[in-house]
Amino acid sequence: MMRQYLDVKKNYPDSILFFRMGDFYEMFLDDAILASRELEIALTSRSKGEDGEKNPMCGVPYHAADAYIDKLIAKGYKVAICEQLEDPATAKGIVKRDVIRVVTPGTVINSKMLDEKKNNFLCAVYGHKTTFGAAFSDLTTGEVFVTSVSGRQRLIDEIARYSPTEIVVSSEVFKNTKLRDELRYRFNASLEMISAEPTRDSCEHLIYQWFHITDLSELHLSEDYFTVNALGMILMHFEETQKMQIGHIKRVSAYSENEFMDIDIFTRRNLEITETMRSKAKKGSLLWVLDKTKTAMGGRLMRSFVEKPLIDCAQIAKRHYAVSELFEATDKREQAMEVLEGIYDIERLLGKISCKSASPKEMISLKQSLQNLPQVEFLLSGLKAPLFRQMYERIDTLEDIAELIDAAITEEDTPISLKDGGIIKTGYDSQVDEFRNLAENGQSEIAKIEAREKELTGIKTLRTGYNRVFGYYIEVSKSYRDSVPDRYIRKQTLTNGERYITEELKELETKVLGASEFLKAREYELFCGIRDKVAEAAARIQTSASVVAHLDVICSLSEVAVKNGYTMPCVDASDKIEIKGGRHPVVEKMLDDALFVPNDTSLDCGDNRMLIITGPNMAGKSTYMRQVAVIVLMAQIGSFVPAESCRIGVCDKIFTRVGASDDLSAGQSTFMVEMTEVAQILKHATKRSLLVLDEIGRGTSTYDGLSIAWAVSEYIANKKKIGARTLFATHYHELTELENKLDGVKNYCIACKKRGDDIIFLRRIVKGGADESYGIEVSALAGLPKEVVSRAKEILAKIDAKEADVSGVSKQPQEENTDFQIGFTDIKNNRLAEELSGLDVTTLTPIEALNKLYELVKIA
Ligand code: ADP
Repeated sequence: MMRQYLDVKKNYPDSILFFRMGDFYEMFLDDAILASRELEIALTSRSKGEDGEKNPMCGVPYHAADAYIDKLIAKGYKVAICEQLEDPATAKGIVKRDVIRVVTPGTVINSKMLDEKKNNFLCAVYGHKTTFGAAFSDLTTGEVFVTSVSGRQRLIDEIARYSPTEIVVSSEVFKNTKLRDELRYRFNASLEMISAEPTRDSCEHLIYQWFHITDLSELHLSEDYFTVNALGMILMHFEETQKMQIGHIKRVSAYSENEFMDIDIFTRRNLEITETMRSKAKKGSLLWVLDKTKTAMGGRLMRSFVEKPLIDCAQIAKRHYAVSELFEATDKREQAMEVLEGIYDIERLLGKISCKSASPKEMISLKQSLQNLPQVEFLLSGLKAPLFRQMYERIDTLEDIAELIDAAITEEDTPISLKDGGIIKTGYDSQVDEFRNLAENGQSEIAKIEAREKELTGIKTLRTGYNRVFGYYIEVSKSYRDSVPDRYIRKQTLTNGERYITEELKELETKVLGASEFLKAREYELFCGIRDKVAEAAARIQTSASVVAHLDVICSLSEVAVKNGYTMPCVDASDKIEIKGGRHPVVEKMLDDALFVPNDTSLDCGDNRMLIITGPNMAGKSTYMRQVAVIVLMAQIGSFVPAESCRIGVCDKIFTRVGASDDLSAGQSTFMVEMTEVAQILKHATKRSLLVLDEIGRGTSTYDGLSIAWAVSEYIANKKKIGARTLFATHYHELTELENKLDGVKNYCIACKKRGDDIIFLRRIVKGGADESYGIEVSALAGLPKEVVSRAKEILAKIDAKEADVSGVSKQPQEENTDFQIGFTDIKNNRLAEELSGLDVTTLTPIEALNKLYELVKIA
């Protein structure tokens, strides 16, 4: 047995091998040591033979195996499931065993870890230094997406759309340590090199075989070998882990880099599109506001809508039109939601059916879901928007499939187990009926025998029973032993009775047990047949599932629009962003008592290209800028937007950068990260992009920061360089100068009022630069000690009054506590004084002043 184990294990060196032995999966040797530690189960040992040496081993019961497998997968291991391939009762010698499936994070189908509203993507990357083919597939639903991208950064951004749980890469990618490290760091996914290096020929061959085609164009795949190889790698990986070609992977969506809006990984995080920055939770994200879908399929599609905003105005308008139809027609929207409520996850049920792991109960769930399709079709027939017309054309109501399941599989107490019978309806199959009759009548026959024997023998306590060892028996208590007839054959003595068998009982037993064994086998066989038949309809089922998902998403967008008071935006080819009364969809939900203050926005590629936004901390600058970006994003998803009115000249990319965002775990300094991100924007932004820059340049000293912010603004505002629509929040008031110096720059600030010592945030954006920074008032709000606040005010007052000659500030009080005094007075170096007095402050520009200050600090 151990030899057999080692033979199998040899082929799966990097997986933990679950070796089926009866009711357990056993692990041996190193696997056992590792698994016992990770799963916190007892490590035992098994004697190795003659020399008495012991092999470590541990095991888990097979019926509870899924939970243990989940745990190992979550910890980043792979699990190879090795089953017994013969019935141990009839097998000669050691039972044949082999691996039937390898479970990896990207290929789980049964796991409780799967989030029903989130796809579980496996990603494959093939490529060289600058060009990459990337393929993404969810085995649970059969979806496949392929594309090719240029550049490492674009690859990372593309992968971020899918958040895969497993990434397989070609050797060239794997050897690129920088890329490999970034993939490891950016994504919470297991990463590995593909086991056999793909070639164009091997991949093409596999694709032909898998999809039963003779030409790549049938899948709308381009000839570009990066995408072909990436797709090939996905299929290779599925074949290796599932040990078969899976029937429900039927279609491939190939798209080009420019089909969807580009949102890089930082912007995704920053705008909190699918999860919040801090807690990584869906709650508090844009998706959380938009997703009121009723089905798991709709939930996943909504996520993919949000991850892939469109840039084709006609396509966007089509979605808006559909949303608006259900927005208007409350009754139809409500009917749709009610029907959707009754539909289970058809896609994943089909996935399990295709992978031969669906239970009878799951078949019933599929049937019940399919039974709602005629109603969906009816609903669609009453809708006018072109998107709905298309859906109406596509939907297949699949009555034949529902009937197939309905005729065969029982709906009452449908079992989860495949092999214990009770699956097939009476009347479906004559053999099932016959044997079920026998098996059931057997019971009543036995009861009859019991009654008759009681009467014949006069033994009142006589009763029949069944156990595994003797089968059916008659039990008689001790006191009646003498009344037992000769034809009873004694089998077992108990403390207060005896057990017997009779010829007649034995005969009946063979018949009954044989019948129930046969019945179970026949039911299993029929069930598998039906399951395979349903699997054959995979493409049709998928089409209808996709219609349901789309209806659900549109319905959810309409419902959210009604509930939250959104309006339909107009997305066109203009260069405008005109928003009246815009709100931030998430922040407005988070404010309990306070009301969100709406604001207008007016941007274009002409006179209003760059808005420089000043205002104290906490005034609402970030919220305002993100609100604009999020509204644009929502509009291009096809959603209505939180505004009174809204017109968007379509954006090809959105970039948002927040100065000094903490990405320290990447091992780079904050400033370095910030500048790398800015560099990316300057490289990739186009005139059509929307840029949101929040306090860029804060990560370094003031003079550097201001200079960088200034230069970056010039570069972006310059039509010959970028000329993109830009919102730029800054605390460098000097930047408001740009309005007079550069074309297309406008100053705005968020209004605040001072009342006494308090500051009141008005949350309204107004033209012009902020006059004061209110830093001290905000610091007071934040709870700095009163002493510190009032001391800061003193210092500020002196500086303002141009009394900031260093001695003036410092000669102030602190009598009793001189330790805390900042020693501005100790001018140790006369050169400093000389330098200072030589300055002509009236002619210095802010930058020169800062540079000078820098030099002076060095002298000091
Ligand atoms: P800043 O970027 O200027 O420091 P934020 O944008 O972070 O300020 O806003 C601070 C807080 O003010 C937010 O958390 C939010 O609660 C509130 N806020 C921002 N904008 C608005 C608004 N338009 N209406 C109501 N509250 C707002």
